[in-house]
Amino acid sequence: DLQLSDRVQQIKPSPTLAVTNRAAELRAAGKDIIGLGAGEPDFDTPQHIKDAASQAIANGFTKYTAVDGTPALKQAIIAKFKRDNGLSYEPNQILVSCGGKQSFFNMALALLNPGDEVVIPAPYWVSYPDMVKIAEGVPVIVETDQSSRFKMTPAQLDAAITSKTRLVVINSPSNPSGVAYSEAELKALAEVLKQYPEVLIATDDMYEHILWAEGGFHNIVSVCPELFDRTVVMNGVSKAYSMTGWRIGYVGGPQKLVAAMKKIQSQSTSNPTSIAQVAAEAALNGDQGCVQDMLQAFKQRHDYVVAALNELPGVDCVESDGTFYAFPSFKGAMEKAGIESDVEFAEKLLTEAEVALVPGSAFGTPGHMRLSFATSMEVLQEAISRLKKALA
Ligand code: PLP
Repeated sequence: DLQLSDRVQQIKPSPTLAVTNRAAELRAAGKDIIGLGAGEPDFDTPQHIKDAASQAIANGFTKYTAVDGTPALKQAIIAKFKRDNGLSYEPNQILVSCGGKQSFFNMALALLNPGDEVVIPAPYWVSYPDMVKIAEGVPVIVETDQSSRFKMTPAQLDAAITSKTRLVVINSPSNPSGVAYSEAELKALAEVLKQYPEVLIATDDMYEHILWAEGGFHNIVSVCPELFDRTVVMNGVSKAYSMTGWRIGYVGGPQKLVAAMKKIQSQSTSNPTSIAQVAAEAALNGDQGCVQDMLQAFKQRHDYVVAALNELPGVDCVESDGTFYAFPSFKGAMEKAGIESDVEFAEKLLTEAEVALVPGSAFGTPGHMRLSFATSMEVLQEAISRLKKALA
C-alpha cells in the first residue's frame, strides 16, 4: 500500500472547490444546479488588461522573469501601496507570486517552525489553517459569531496569543463573512498587538476594493504605522479586477521575511507567468473605473440577497460591508429539519433546491452557509425562490 506523508494526510482539499466540483458532477448528470459556491467575480477581465497581455505575447515577453516579479510590476505595486494605503516600500520588500494563495504559502514556509502558533479568527478563508499545517505550524482558531458581526475582539486576540505565537492573520473585508473591521476596531486590535513585539501580522487585503461600508478601507498598518516593520500586507489582482485565472498576488513586508519567501518561491514555481505580470501591471496602473462598475453591481446584488435571505424561515443574515459573499445562519432551518450537520444540510439544499452553497463548518463557523452573489440578479432571484420552496 502506498504510504503518503504525514503532512499531506493532515490537510483536506479546498472545500469550496469541492462544492464547485460536486455541483459540476450533478450538472453533468443532467441536474439544473445553481452554483453559489464559487469565490470569483462573474465579470470578464476588463479589456485594457487583456489587451496588455496580448501585446506582451506579441512582443515576445514570454520568458522567465525575475523570481520576485518584473521591476515594472513591482513599481506598479509600490505605487499602489502608496496611493491606496499610504505605505512606502522598496522593491526588495515586494514579492509577486502566483496568486494570494502562494503568497500565504510562501510566508507560512518561510516563517514557521514545527509547533509555532498562528492566530486565525473564524470564520476564516479555508486555506489559512491548512497552509499553516503544511508548514507544521499550529492554527489557533478564535471563534466569533453573528453577535459581534464575526469580528474578533481585542480581549479575544489577547487571550489567543501565547509564547509560541508567531503570526496573527487579519482578513478584512472577510471571506466568508463579508464583514470589515472599522478604523476604530483595527486601532483597538493594534493596541493589543503593540504589547507583543515578537508577533508578526498578516493583513490579507484581497477584498480591499470590494467594499461599500462607510469609512472606507483601512488595514492594521494604515491605522497603526508602528506595526509596519512586522506586518505583511497581502493583496492581489484576482478579486478587484476579475483576474482569478491569471494567478497574480503580491505582498509588501519586512525585507528579511520577503527575501525568505522569495527563496521558497525560487525553489517551487519561480516567477509568476510573464504575461500575467504585464496584465497585472496594466490593472494596477490603469483606469480604476472598472473596479467601481463591478463594486456597484456587487452592492446591488448584496442588498437584494441579504433582504431576501432574511425573509426565509429559519435563515438570519447580517449585512456585508463588502466582498461578494453573504454568510447567513441556517440554524433555525436546520433545527426545524432535524439536521445537525451543516455539511449534510448543504447537501440537502443541493439535491432538493438544486442550489450549491458552501457549509460554514468549512470556514470554522458551523450553522452558516456561504453564498456567493458573484452572479446575475436573475440567477440570484431564481436561487432564492428555490431555497424558499425547499425551506417551506
Ligand atoms: N485571500 C482571500 C481572503 C481569498 O478569499 C482568496 C481567494 O479566494 C485569496 C486570498 C487568494 O486568491 P488568489 O490566490 O486567487 O490570489
